[in-house]
Amino acid sequence: MKKAKIIINATNLTRMVLALAAVLSLVAILLVVSRQGKTEYAESAESKTVVVVAAGDTLSELLLAQGLNHNDVNTIAAALKKDADITTLRAERDKLEFVRLDDNGPVSKIVVVPSPWKQVELTCDNTGNWNCNVMDVERDTRAVFKRGEILDGDSFYLAGQRAGIPAGILIDVYDLLAFEMDFERDVRAGQKFWVMYEENFSDGKKVDNGHVLAVSFEALRGNVKMFRFKKSDGTYGYYDENGNGAIKSLKRTPINNAKITSKFSRNRKHPVLGYTRAHKGVDFRASTGTPIPAAGAGRVIARSYNKGHGNFVKIRHNGSFETLYAHMSKFAKGVNVGTTVKQGQTIGYVGSTGYSTGPHLHYEIIKDGVHVNPMTVKLPAISNLGKDDKKKFIEYRKILEQGMEQLEKSPNMYIQL
Ligand SMILES: [Zn+2]
Repeated sequence: MKKAKIIINATNLTRMVLALAAVLSLVAILLVVSRQGKTEYAESAESKTVVVVAAGDTLSELLLAQGLNHNDVNTIAAALKKDADITTLRAERDKLEFVRLDDNGPVSKIVVVPSPWKQVELTCDNTGNWNCNVMDVERDTRAVFKRGEILDGDSFYLAGQRAGIPAGILIDVYDLLAFEMDFERDVRAGQKFWVMYEENFSDGKKVDNGHVLAVSFEALRGNVKMFRFKKSDGTYGYYDENGNGAIKSLKRTPINNAKITSKFSRNRKHPVLGYTRAHKGVDFRASTGTPIPAAGAGRVIARSYNKGHGNFVKIRHNGSFETLYAHMSKFAKGVNVGTTVKQGQTIGYVGSTGYSTGPHLHYEIIKDGVHVNPMTVKLPAISNLGKDDKKKFIEYRKILEQGMEQLEKSPNMYIQL
């Protein structure tokens, strides 16, 4: 194991850069690149007009207002469609920048910014043709590390916010941990967790957050750890410490952060029917209309109504698993018997149809025709690593852990990716 090379860059006093260049480039995942300055078009005579697209604006109107003719409009619209896949402008979001060589001259360049990470430049050559050039905006991605602890009466969400983890990242963390944890029963005061995630910067300013790189939670049934890793085929996945696939074929809790109001049991007094009968699933409290995501990829084999379940959907997954979702207020559009669904795709909305005392999701997992406890059933992983990737993963994981150790000592540092 090579030792990470640590370079402290003191140019930024508030947040120093911790670079793990040598080893990281070896693994080819975390790579510190030396960036070349981009050419700036900043001649003093140039004039720029920035137009923010407003509701009701059309491309042709905006272009004509800048003195372009109908021929230009058609050519520009065609180029945007062909080269940049832009067919409509989004009000309050898209910006157009018109560049003239001098104040009164014709527009010679148009810059469209469809996302913080993409810039589209249209330039007019001296024959009057418009050329379209799509460029990725350079992003400087940094990994930050946050550590938190559950306090008395806390939820993971509150503890995460207190630890300074942004809401979007917390939602991603929920999504990941929901494969392994039951937030209702597994969260206790004193439990510690940490999250390492990406922040994307452009020109020194933070633009957005990226992916969760690693997460750890001291769950009751053992420490849950997941690491994001790029396989040799170029795809990313999450793996546990030993390199086993962490993303399971099914989620134990389809709705994030939903409280369990009734557990799986072979013997329970039914709240509506009054007599004792098995509760073949788990109930999650959620308000009417909350989207219900498919717990795993599969094919819809039932979309129907019965007295007990109300509106329900049943999905057959790969292997021997089926899942059922009951008491829906309505089904999602386009979800019918035979529809193929992805993991996480909305199949319906929470309601209280059938035998139900209030809005909730009743969720069942059926394995080989037998109802099983969603919270404890052993679920197969979607992807496991091959032998070579597993070896690389272990190396990579060690490097990440070294990085985290450094960040732990200096919480205001980050690792440049
Ligand atoms: Zn139920």
